[in-house]
Amino acid sequence: MKPLRVQVAEVARQLHASGWVANHDGNVTARDGARFLATPTATSKRLIGDRDLIEVDARGQVHGRGKVFGEIGLHLVVYERRPDVGCVVHAHPPNATAISASRGNPIERPFIAEAVVSLGPRIPKLPYAQPGDAARAALAPWCELVDAVLLGNHGAIAWGADPEQALLRLELVEHLARIAIAAQAVGGVEPLPEPAIAPLLAARAKAGIGRAADRAVATAAELLGEPRPVVACAPAPHAPVPTIGPGGPPSELATVVREEIVRALRRS
Ligand SMILES: [Zn+2]
Repeated sequence: MKPLRVQVAEVARQLHASGWVANHDGNVTARDGARFLATPTATSKRLIGDRDLIEVDARGQVHGRGKVFGEIGLHLVVYERRPDVGCVVHAHPPNATAISASRGNPIERPFIAEAVVSLGPRIPKLPYAQPGDAARAALAPWCELVDAVLLGNHGAIAWGADPEQALLRLELVEHLARIAIAAQAVGGVEPLPEPAIAPLLAARAKAGIGRAADRAVATAAELLGEPRPVVACAPAPHAPVPTIGPGGPPSELATVVREEIVRALRRS
């Protein structure tokens, strides 16, 4: 396994090689213990080497040399809400950004099964917001439900367990955007039928993708032999949303186990 710094620098250069950034656009961060490695501001991603990365804390304060980019808040809100996330990647891929800067969002509802498993039930498009508190607040509610988001009139951001996974997710967003734009010539994409979504979300949780609470509840359901766990509807540790399976309320034992897991997640 390459050192994390090297992985982050490689992903940054890949953003440029893929044609997803111009000028000083785009940024990459990775969780490194209690701090985060980040690409420096005002630098082409083409030129990023592992020694150029800077180090910031959870409040965005730089430790050591270098200056952090203005969109750091978007990255930090993802890390705050998703302890399972190890890397966040933001860029302006042309097709995804075209959708982010147009009316409508043809990739919001999934039209290809693998997108649900890899990215979640939606690819939302947030309203335009200047980097800062407003953009951070707009992104926060989506962090636990999905793994990629379009930023209105701006670009796309994706996250994953490691730099490779975050990059692959951004790549998938751009690929879906390209397909959706091509599909306009033949009447536009047709979203998957709604009943197809729940089993795909269950597969997502079972594969260990997505938020930690999904996986914990999936594991609990497996242990308890629940026949049809609706794991995708599980709340995050701090969300006050009850979980109710398709067959009705969970059994008393399932409720007790679930509460234990949520408590454990809160402690972690
Ligand atoms: Zn940007």
